[in-house]
Amino acid sequence: MKKIIFAVCLVVAVSLSVYGVAIASQTRVPATVGPSGQTVIIPEHAVEVAPHVFYLGEAIDPADGQMVRGYAFMLTAEAKTDSVNKPAKPVKPAVNTCYGFLASGAKWKTVENWVMNSSNPFAMDEMTVFNLLDRGINKWEDAANGVVGDGYGKNVVGAGSFTTEMLNADETAPDNMNEIYFGELEPGTIGVTIVWGVFGGAPKARELREWDQVYNTYYTWSAEASGVPDKMDFDNIATHELGHTMGLDDLYTDSCGQETMYGYGTEGETYKRDLNAGDVVGMASLYK
Ligand SMILES: [Zn+2]
Repeated sequence: MKKIIFAVCLVVAVSLSVYGVAIASQTRVPATVGPSGQTVIIPEHAVEVAPHVFYLGEAIDPADGQMVRGYAFMLTAEAKTDSVNKPAKPVKPAVNTCYGFLASGAKWKTVENWVMNSSNPFAMDEMTVFNLLDRGINKWEDAANGVVGDGYGKNVVGAGSFTTEMLNADETAPDNMNEIYFGELEPGTIGVTIVWGVFGGAPKARELREWDQVYNTYYTWSAEASGVPDKMDFDNIATHELGHTMGLDDLYTDSCGQETMYGYGTEGETYKRDLNAGDVVGMASLYK
């Protein structure tokens, strides 16, 4: 039995990857303003199963007592000079296979609401940021029906609520709350998405159970209508991160460079705000 679990673990590990974000020289805003949630520290027992992807271990889902596993996707700032000024390749594959899953069949089966504390030290309007995240979810929920932006999407992750309460991303066990906030992460990591779920066993039995997302106040963020050259565009990065929330994986093939789930990005980049053909096909096939 142990052997089987280990094998499944490896398969999941191979399918997990990271969203490497290039560093450009810029002004950093130190995280001196009160964070809207607890600092995220990857626990010592966590195992890095792929570059910047940490297996957090097994834990009991308080919702039903089932055993679940957790993974943390660190958005790591990496000096990838070749991707700084050309985040997207204007190539559309003839047949779109530009999508991947965290684990085949691992998707949301129960609608759970989420909560966001969008207070931030960047003078971004909190409701604007909250609404950007909400709209980011809508983009993916529309895509679950195979369409872009019709506003009649599947209800995949429920409704969001705005809070000023301190939130806490769950690195050791899920707590039945899906929490999003700006907080302190280690320098070099621009954000993290933690997903708990059932990733092993038969694909039909797999399921996503909880997600938490933290955006690192070490970096400077913007929520403008247009991208700001030296700032992380919240809409752009959040739309990508929300793809992980839905169960989608990063892409690194050049021919998939126009996808929101393309695994490289940088400050000022905005093209990931809009889902591309592969993102939509992937989302629709996962939730069909
Ligand atoms: Zn990613």
